[in-house]
Amino acid sequence: MTDSTPSTDAENLADLTDEQWKQRLTPAEYRVLRQAGTEAPFTGEYTDTTTVGVYRCRACDAELFRSEQKFESHCGWPSFFSPLAGDTIIEVEDNSLGMRRVEVLCANCKSHLGHVFAGEGYDTPTDLRYCINSISLKLEPADQRPLP
Ligand SMILES: [Zn+2]
Repeated sequence: MTDSTPSTDAENLADLTDEQWKQRLTPAEYRVLRQAGTEAPFTGEYTDTTTVGVYRCRACDAELFRSEQKFESHCGWPSFFSPLAGDTIIEVEDNSLGMRRVEVLCANCKSHLGHVFAGEGYDTPTDLRYCINSISLKLEPADQRPLP
């Protein structure tokens, strides 16, 4: 964890081809982030993580979620009840697999993060569950943040 410099700016990211994404990402990251795949439940490295910090986009380093909004959903994936700010993510309707779901994308690089589910009865301020693949995220622990 030595790369703290934000990599590419949003304009360049929008122009990246699939081949360029493949070079930037591991095959597993590419399958989830760029092909809207889903990692197997209870396998992601952040599923039960309670470390205080900021979760960044694995593809572009944009700040997406904070540990303060992470909660234990027991669903097998890291779950957040709110994004860090409303404009860090994009929500789009996803009717694949015969289900009506809402897909969550990184607003900066348009990579797939996961899905958001509403009204499930979780005891959180929003009753939303942003169900996010660990592999789409990169945790920056608060005590490792570079000083300004
Ligand atoms: Zn991104």
